[in-house]
Amino acid sequence: MKINEIKSFPVWSGSRNLFVLKIETDEGYYGLGEAGVSGRELAVQGAVAHFREFLLGKDPRRIGALWQEMYRGQYFEGGRVLTGAISAIDIALHDLVAKSLGVPVYQLLGGAQRDSVPCFVTSGAPMGPDAVDDALRYIGQGWPVVRFVPGHPETGEDGLFEPRESIAHTAEWLTKAREKVGAAPVLGIDYHHRLSVAEAASFCQMLPPGTLDFLEEPIRDETPGAYQSLRTMTEVPFAIGEEFSSKWTFLPYVEQGITNYARVDICNVGGFTEAMKVAGWCEAHYIDLMPHNPLGPISTAANIHLAAAVPNYSWLEDRSPEFTFSSELFPVQHELSGVGYPLPTAPGLGVEFNEEMAGKPFEFWETPRLHRRDGSYTNW
Ligand SMILES: [Mg+2]
Repeated sequence: MKINEIKSFPVWSGSRNLFVLKIETDEGYYGLGEAGVSGRELAVQGAVAHFREFLLGKDPRRIGALWQEMYRGQYFEGGRVLTGAISAIDIALHDLVAKSLGVPVYQLLGGAQRDSVPCFVTSGAPMGPDAVDDALRYIGQGWPVVRFVPGHPETGEDGLFEPRESIAHTAEWLTKAREKVGAAPVLGIDYHHRLSVAEAASFCQMLPPGTLDFLEEPIRDETPGAYQSLRTMTEVPFAIGEEFSSKWTFLPYVEQGITNYARVDICNVGGFTEAMKVAGWCEAHYIDLMPHNPLGPISTAANIHLAAAVPNYSWLEDRSPEFTFSSELFPVQHELSGVGYPLPTAPGLGVEFNEEMAGKPFEFWETPRLHRRDGSYTNW
């Protein structure tokens, strides 16, 4: 079997761009993949164009060898754009090889370790009374974990984010949320790397013990030592890793005990090949995967198969249960059953993409911009 085409589709899905990739073979089998690096899809498309030059004609079943060649086949190794492209290709290779064998992808990864994939839900409401109402509703529906997003007092100014005002407001409402839901449900918050070490420490100190089960990305992650410093100032578990682009980026976070849930993103880290290695490493350190999954139906499908095959697993990020992607673009996608995904049985990933509908023009999109009251830039 030989790879005879690699096509990429940066496509507007109605609410965001998705980067979809398709690999075709001379035997008629094809596979689908998806890349992360949201907002820079055309850069990933450029990387795929370079990889395509040496992948055409290769045997798609030699997945690990092709991963090594893609990662190490240039002088300037690694980085998020390259591993985003590698991720999409690696996922598509697993899809097509599994289809050629007539098995679900998780059979290539050691087989299923669970019967369904547990998920967590996120309240889209900024932390405040609406978010507390969402938590009560979701917990009533059976969700074991509710994640929040930060709140901020109303200022009337678009894009204003003052960390001190946000942490005071958010801590107050998180404390109320815990009082309302009781001790059993898991509560987390994603601070979207908007804080400094000092602000993150102050935020944790404002919370009564037992309020928060995980704090996701309170600060940026370029400097593991900054997280080590924060680690000494709070006992709240951390959930970090969605932006990591290889096992090597995970290395200090896993080995030095900085992260407590690994937020691996299979569309950024290097596909199944790299995610399984990160999972094994986390297993040795008693860390569960809590994968990042904000992209499209191919990412969700890949995550379901990863979850099936990994023993050390907590919950998969899922979009709001009310959200669905266009069935014209994705005629076959996995659907939640209650608060989890059933184990798939179809060959491959079990998801389909309609190339004919991919003609929707790509739309340039930028992340929202936030600023401080003094006019300085701050992370979204
Ligand atoms: Mg996050």
